[in-house]
Amino acid sequence: MMIAIQHLTKRYGSQAAVSGLDLEIERGSICGLLGPNGSGKTTTFKCLLGFTRPDSGTLLIDGKPLEPATFERLSYVPERSALYDWMTAAQHVELQRRSFRRFDAARARELLEIFRLDPNKKTKRLSKGQQTAVALVLAFSIRPDVLVLDEPASGLDPIFQRVVMDLMIDAAANGATILFSSHQITQVERAADHVAILRQGKVVLDGVVDSLKSDEKIVEAIFDDAVPPVDGLAHDVRVRRLERSGRILRAYVRTDSDAIARQVEDLHPRSVSVLDLNLEDIFLGAVEPDNRVEPFGEIR
Ligand code: ATP
Repeated sequence: MMIAIQHLTKRYGSQAAVSGLDLEIERGSICGLLGPNGSGKTTTFKCLLGFTRPDSGTLLIDGKPLEPATFERLSYVPERSALYDWMTAAQHVELQRRSFRRFDAARARELLEIFRLDPNKKTKRLSKGQQTAVALVLAFSIRPDVLVLDEPASGLDPIFQRVVMDLMIDAAANGATILFSSHQITQVERAADHVAILRQGKVVLDGVVDSLKSDEKIVEAIFDDAVPPVDGLAHDVRVRRLERSGRILRAYVRTDSDAIARQVEDLHPRSVSVLDLNLEDIFLGAVEPDNRVEPFGEIR
């Protein structure tokens, strides 16, 4: 494991921002951290990088606790980019080149061009998205073994969001290990091979993206009028959750989705479809408080 976080707890006063969090990321893997606002993503990053002291837990990078040498091969891009207002992008590149032995200045110039950044413009004259792009250029040009990116694409337009995802995929293909947070589920779905979903400082779901997606199906039915009583389904152990929204019935099905679809057909809906879950369905299922309660399905 390149990153190992074991039983991490961090409290601010009486409130636990992170509570018994476990997360392991294999070398060369991209882990997307998803979670509602305030669920502990940034706090986890800060503890991992030694910017704040955890109350308890073990944090290892490449099998070792953080040490000064780790920062030679690690890049961190915080939620709000930390650049000098009065310096140009080119001056930031030069500063980084002098600070990091591994810094690849040619790659930095290439990335400045990819992000269409003027190297001679001072930071304070750049837009928010352009400042984020400069921070990303610096981070990727170190050619780090470990990248920790807190919402790396926030404020970037869709074209550059795609560029960031591609840079991550490319870095991981060259052996880098990446931990990033995002509120944009499609980005996580595109770039991450591994996803961890946080809720109130705990990992509530964690796994390989494709296997999370293939675990469940949604049987979705549309009725001409109100959804009829579905007591049988509500108590069926194969159904994890039932959702009723106007004339639409959705059953989140663990196994046997075709049999459940036939049962739903007996209720004479206008249409029935069996759908694959996307990452957004999985995320909402994991973080919506109402979903925790009923192991055998519920009607809302
Ligand atoms: P977001 O998606 O909004 O960026 P997050 O998942 O990164 O949120 P954190 O910033 O880790 O969440 O915050 C977790 C919890 O810890 C929140 O309830 C927040 O109010 C609290 N918190 C974070 N930093 C501090 C601090 N320095 N002092 C007190 N409370 C804090």
